[in-house]
Amino acid sequence: MSNSEISNRLPISYGRQHITSEDIEAVSQALQSDYLTQGPRIVEFEKAFAEYIGCRYAVAVSNGTAALHLAALALDVKKGEKVITTPITFAASANCVRYCEGEVLFADIDPKNYCIDLNRVEDILKKEKTVRGIIPVDFAGYPVQLEDLRELANKFGCWIIEDACHAPGAWFTDANGREQKCGNGAFADIGIFSFHPVKHIATGEGGMITTNNTQIFDALTMLRSHGITRNPALLEENHGGWYYEMQDLGYNYRITDFQCALGSSQLKRADSGLFRRNKIAQTYNNAFADTAIVRPFVADDVFHAYHLYVIQVDDRLGLYNYLRSKNIFAQVHYIPVHLMPYYKQFGWSKGDCPIAESYYDRCLSLPMYPSLTDEEQAYVIETILSYIQ
Ligand SMILES: *Cc1c(COP(=O)(O)O)cnc(C)c1O
Repeated sequence: MSNSEISNRLPISYGRQHITSEDIEAVSQALQSDYLTQGPRIVEFEKAFAEYIGCRYAVAVSNGTAALHLAALALDVKKGEKVITTPITFAASANCVRYCEGEVLFADIDPKNYCIDLNRVEDILKKEKTVRGIIPVDFAGYPVQLEDLRELANKFGCWIIEDACHAPGAWFTDANGREQKCGNGAFADIGIFSFHPVKHIATGEGGMITTNNTQIFDALTMLRSHGITRNPALLEENHGGWYYEMQDLGYNYRITDFQCALGSSQLKRADSGLFRRNKIAQTYNNAFADTAIVRPFVADDVFHAYHLYVIQVDDRLGLYNYLRSKNIFAQVHYIPVHLMPYYKQFGWSKGDCPIAESYYDRCLSLPMYPSLTDEEQAYVIETILSYIQ
């Protein structure tokens, strides 16, 4: 394929969903069944996802933001309570604390892997004393070293919600040499995932909460559906088959049966998608090896899920605009959350997280998704090299 043929095709975006005829068949079957919502495909998807991640429980919800909100509720975040997160994430990682009227503290990032810096977390924990929890994000698909974070959290009596939206299938190696998959609940109290179309597994809108804790699981299933339970073991009274109790103030954060049909179908291709993403990353790495482009760091003992392939360049705006003119829609992840006007009103300002801020000045996410063809990637690489040289 020639370059002009490729540039005549759809714009190449930084991420996109991949829908196969099997996916369409699975959704079609769900639509022809007795259930549109609250059917058997939800539990099937939850079970398959829990098995894939290696956790005990998985609770499917309407989106990743709802998953974060329910996680904060299940851990009982209250007005004024402090929670630490990273500024380099989607705003929802921080917003879930605000939904519960808690206070968000931003810890700067590690300049190498762009995830929350455990040393900065420790600084805050020592200074603030009364922090309730920590929300690390497996940014771009890079697994946070949760064993070390757990040790720190235990010292200060904190819970951990792992925002693993970018990282289904990624893992780090613990001190005993075991692979620990993101969201498996071995070190975090709760993991959360999103099934937005740009993420690894797409259901349109959708999310998942993972945990190994039975009490948290019970709380989550109730909170997902208005705080209502019909579980005889949990009822205070029982008047008969119709009887249910609203035991807490919950929400309608349910997912539908046909979305879970899509999720289960997509999950079957999760590993081949990860393999393809790693191959695309390798091709970028090789192509940029002799340039000034800063490539993603990967430690030897981790497996990167490559939700994003982020480079750093001096002339980010110039490269971004040039790529757009060539129909390549690279993206910036993320504008630091502490610099959003909403968070500035609480006193956050430029200079509070200098590593995150200088990362933001230079970062650019290149096209990265399993269905990106070799030809399309070659066109992206050629275009970038022709701009920087
Ligand atoms: C996508 C995403 C979310 C939110 O998920 P939605 O399903 O869009 O609500 C939260 N955190 C991170 C890191 C994300 O990438």
